[in-house]
Amino acid sequence: QRDNYLLMAIGLMVVIGFIFVLVNIRKEMKLAEIKSEFVSNVSHEIRTPLALISMYAETLLLKRVKTEEKQTEYLKTIQQESFRLTGIVNRILNFSRLEKNRIKYRFEKIDLREAIPEVVGTFRTHLDAAGVDCCCEENKEEAWVMADWESLKTMLNNLLDNAIKYSGSEKKIRVRLEHKPKQVWVEVEDNGIGIASKNQKYVFDQFYRVTDGDLAHQAKGSGLGLNLVKRMMKAHGGSVAVRSRLGEGSTFVLKFPRKK
Ligand code: ADP
Repeated sequence: QRDNYLLMAIGLMVVIGFIFVLVNIRKEMKLAEIKSEFVSNVSHEIRTPLALISMYAETLLLKRVKTEEKQTEYLKTIQQESFRLTGIVNRILNFSRLEKNRIKYRFEKIDLREAIPEVVGTFRTHLDAAGVDCCCEENKEEAWVMADWESLKTMLNNLLDNAIKYSGSEKKIRVRLEHKPKQVWVEVEDNGIGIASKNQKYVFDQFYRVTDGDLAHQAKGSGLGLNLVKRMMKAHGGSVAVRSRLGEGSTFVLKFPRKK
């Protein structure tokens, strides 16, 4: 009788061990799949601006562009694509720093009512070159929070970049502050393709990209931008959320704890 129990116990352990190994293999395979997809996504994302930059630079060097207007247009494209490349590289660098816990936050008392228009202002050339109608709504009330200036720039850069990337030809972005009793919200609203409700809970996951739908599929990306925003907001003691309707647009909300 005891031997039977022992045999059964050993059998059970072998089965459990086998299942454990199978689950691990599946996990590894999934991870390998995600990694290879990520590398291919990033390569695509980098290749497009590089190709555009070299094509426009070559055309300008060969003096094929006669009018000054056209030359300016080509130079603007080169500038815009360089911005995009810098954005991609910064996202990857930040991501790897976050992974290794190497991001140093320097929190200071910041009035978002003044800081947000200032940060958006630093992207003005980029926004203009992309033909975006972007405005920061005016605010009367002060909005003090503890924030790290670099993170603020990175987070707004990622949100504005997405608002541009996932919008049609008439791009319209509104940036506004909402005052809540214990929080200050920074809202970035676009009139783009929107996100289906079933996909909204995943957009902040590492490497996640919406793959159903036409425009989302064409736009290049790495699936890191929103995950970075989520992690940075967590470090600020806040959070990030999204409201969206497919085909109508999206609003991303950075929720900062209010500093008294
Ligand atoms: P990506 O590099 O793919 O843009 P993100 O982490 O920034 O990565 O975004 C994750 C996914 O969320 C995107 O692939 C896209 O499908 C969706 N998304 C993000 N921002 C928007 C937006 N403003 N409008 C519509 N979809 C968006």
